[in-house]
Amino acid sequence: MAPDQLQRLVTRWLAPWPTLAGAEQAHLLELTDTLVHQLRWEAASGFEVTDTMRVAVAAHAALLVVSFDDGLQSYHDVSSVIMHPSTIVRRGTKYVGDGMWSDDDDPVIGEAVHRGPVLVSWDAAAQQAREPWRGENVLLHEFAHRLDMLDGISDGTPLFDDAGQLDDWVRVCTQSLRRLRAHDEPSVLRNYAETNPAEFFAVATEVFFTRPTALREENPDLYRVLRDYFRQDPAARRPMY
Ligand SMILES: [Zn+2]
Repeated sequence: MAPDQLQRLVTRWLAPWPTLAGAEQAHLLELTDTLVHQLRWEAASGFEVTDTMRVAVAAHAALLVVSFDDGLQSYHDVSSVIMHPSTIVRRGTKYVGDGMWSDDDDPVIGEAVHRGPVLVSWDAAAQQAREPWRGENVLLHEFAHRLDMLDGISDGTPLFDDAGQLDDWVRVCTQSLRRLRAHDEPSVLRNYAETNPAEFFAVATEVFFTRPTALREENPDLYRVLRDYFRQDPAARRPMY
């Protein structure tokens, strides 16, 4: 893909793009280009993966890791990205958390499988990318799960080099999740964040990148640990909307 075509698609699909510094934009384009070429792209039967989809997905994955020393390493075990046209219905017996299993059909708009593929419903991803102010983004969500899974378990705690930073993270996230579950007050974090610590991290990541100022206002400690982990300060960038 020609560089200007790549940039045109990233500009169109990645809401925070105009708020990034020049060097961040350049690095994000590089990471996006590499992911577009290195990831294995598959489509559900009867569907076709387009350049637009590849760039939209790769740019969101790249945004999460743009400040990491070796961002692409974070996605080394993504076996493929499987694009579905709309809602994905998971059938068969599945673990639904809290020691429970279910045989019910389970409609989802995305899924991250440990050391396996990332599944995405394109209509949901496209709709959310067009309305970033709503604070929901399945692409940021599923790739956040991949970062969480890098230490082998999906528990809402990604990898940290620094033990102090890890302790701070666990303390703040545990308290924040407990508070969210205990109160019925409106929150920038939608109810799904209460499911378990892994979903809490994935939902918080969506909001951190799409509604950073609102998150910082509501829960400065949570904003701070996310900022320190991602090494990005989106609330300090110029406003997106
Ligand atoms: Zn999730």
